[in-house]
Amino acid sequence: ERFADLALDDRILRAVADMGYEKLTPIQAKAIPLLLDGRDIMGAAQTGTGKTAAFSLPILQQLLPLASTSVSPARHPVRALMLAPTRELADQVYTNLKAYAKHTPLRCACVFGGMDMNPQKDELRKGVELLVATPGRLLDHIEAKTANLSQVQFVVLDEADRMLDIGFLPDLQRILGYLPKQRTTLLFSATFSPEIKRLAQSYLQNPLLVEV
Ligand code: AMP
Repeated sequence: ERFADLALDDRILRAVADMGYEKLTPIQAKAIPLLLDGRDIMGAAQTGTGKTAAFSLPILQQLLPLASTSVSPARHPVRALMLAPTRELADQVYTNLKAYAKHTPLRCACVFGGMDMNPQKDELRKGVELLVATPGRLLDHIEAKTANLSQVQFVVLDEADRMLDIGFLPDLQRILGYLPKQRTTLLFSATFSPEIKRLAQSYLQNPLLVEV
C-alpha cells in the first residue's frame, strides 16, 4: 500500500514524500484507516515499526480543518496530546511530528523535564495544536496554567508499558482526568500486561487491537 493512495491532504502527502516514504509499514497500513475513521486503538508495536507516522498522520489530517493562520494564541488551542515516557522518546516523536506537519499551519511543541520551564512556557503561550510531553512536566505546566487541555480531541499514550514501569500511572490518571470525555484515545505498547489492559479499559472506548 502506498501513501499516495490514502485519503490524506496533499500537504501531508508532500511531507511524507519529503521524508522519502513510499509504502506504508504494516502498522501504518492497519492503523491509519481505523484512525481516519475515528476509532480508539490499542497498538502492539515497538519503536522502529513506523508507529509515529501511524498515529501522527491521521491526527494531522483530522486537525487540518481546524488549522488557523491567525497569530492569536487563542486560535491555537492544544487539540492533540502525545505522551511519552522519556525526554529522548518525546523528542523523537516531536522531530517526526514537526516534519509531517511542516507544510501545514498546525503548530507543534514538546515539553519534558530536566529543562528550564520558562522557554517551554513562552512556546506554549504562543499556542500549539499538537503537544508532545512527558507526564511529569506536563502536569507542571497544567498547574502553572501554561497548558490548557480543555480542547484536546486526540490523546496518544506512546510506549505505555514503559510509562507504567517508570511509575507514571498516577500522573497519567491525573492528566487524563483533565481531558474532555469526548475524544479519541490511542495507546501503544510493546507488551499488554494486565496493568496496560486495565489502563486501556478505563480510558479507551471500544478500542480495536492492532498488532503487527
Ligand atoms: P518509528 O517506529 O515511528 O520510530 O519509526 C522508525 C523509523 O522509520 C523512522 O526513522 C521513520 O522516519 C521511518 N519510517 C516510518 N514510516 C516509514 C515508511 N512508511 N517508509 C520508510 N520509512 C519509514
